Amino acid sequence: MNLKWSLLERQMQENGVQTLLITDPKHVYYLTGFLSNPHERFLATAMTLGEEPFLIVPALDEEAARAASDIGHIYTHTDTDNPYLVLNQALKGSTGTIALEKNHLSVARFESLQEHLTFARYRDIGPWLQDMRVRKSADEITKIKHAVSLIEQVLQEGLSKVKEGVTENELVAEIEYQIRRLGADGPSFDSMVLSGEKTALPHGVPGTRKLQYGDLLMYDIGVYADGYASDITRTFAFGEPSPELTQIYNTVLEANEQAIRSIKPGVSFASIDLAARTVIDQAGYGKYFMHRLGHGLGIDVHEYPSIHGQNEALLQEGNVFTVEPGIYIAGLGGVRIEDDIVVTADGVEVLTSFPKKLTILE
Ligand code: MN
Ligand code: MN
Repeated sequence: MNLKWSLLERQMQENGVQTLLITDPKHVYYLTGFLSNPHERFLATAMTLGEEPFLIVPALDEEAARAASDIGHIYTHTDTDNPYLVLNQALKGSTGTIALEKNHLSVARFESLQEHLTFARYRDIGPWLQDMRVRKSADEITKIKHAVSLIEQVLQEGLSKVKEGVTENELVAEIEYQIRRLGADGPSFDSMVLSGEKTALPHGVPGTRKLQYGDLLMYDIGVYADGYASDITRTFAFGEPSPELTQIYNTVLEANEQAIRSIKPGVSFASIDLAARTVIDQAGYGKYFMHRLGHGLGIDVHEYPSIHGQNEALLQEGNVFTVEPGIYIAGLGGVRIEDDIVVTADGVEVLTSFPKKLTILE
């Protein structure tokens, strides 16, 4: 049994839980190494206290699960089986208090569990998994670095299509082509390329706007690779930018760098947000930075922790999160510069390496 299961077993003992049931495919991957999208079919990993963990997978996934996972006991169900009966047999009827994922289990599935298992009480496993996931292992950091490396190659290739008159949608299409060509599993969220005044929309949707000289051009893109996400934003100038856009750019860059300089174990997430926000406030753009500084990154592209001014939790070695200050002025344009970082024993390692100095594309 690996370290993650040992930690869960200790939580079970301390909390009087006899049975663990994990149904989120990402958590099944996190705990067993088997990554799959089961669609509507039932996929779970489970454990009874004192026994070995097991997997329940659709029969058509059995070979893939055996190849990917170090879990010895794999139960299967066909499309005509009732997976809850298979689960009940695997648990040998002894459920006691069951810990499950409130965030993931639908009401319909919970009712099926109630119908087929006998458990006295249930409780949420979410906080246990969150505490584990917030500190990444060396293996996880290696996977995130790979996802970062891929998206930076994608961005480099994608820029070759930048020219006057090209649409945002055409630039997105090139990004998504390069994501596949370079071997990522796929985008980690809807790829975003915005130009001109649309860069002022933090969650803008790419469309048919044509690129013209004097525009800002913003790429916010990421990939999944080996089940781990990357997430990067770079903003470029297409042709010579106005003095005001240049000043906004340099302010965001300074905020990004100040925040990164403030990262080390033991300081609060709030203080990292404040480091960036102070730079932007002092430049007079405070009200135009209307979102949090960043978010955790791992098997989800947005995961715990949220890096904002109210989060007084302290940074720990192994935290991986984004640093993405921005300034957005309606009708004029916006700049965001987003890096992915890992907290090290004595400071920070910046995983993204794409240049941040204002680049003028011609
Ligand atoms: Mn992003
Ligand atoms: Mn982000």
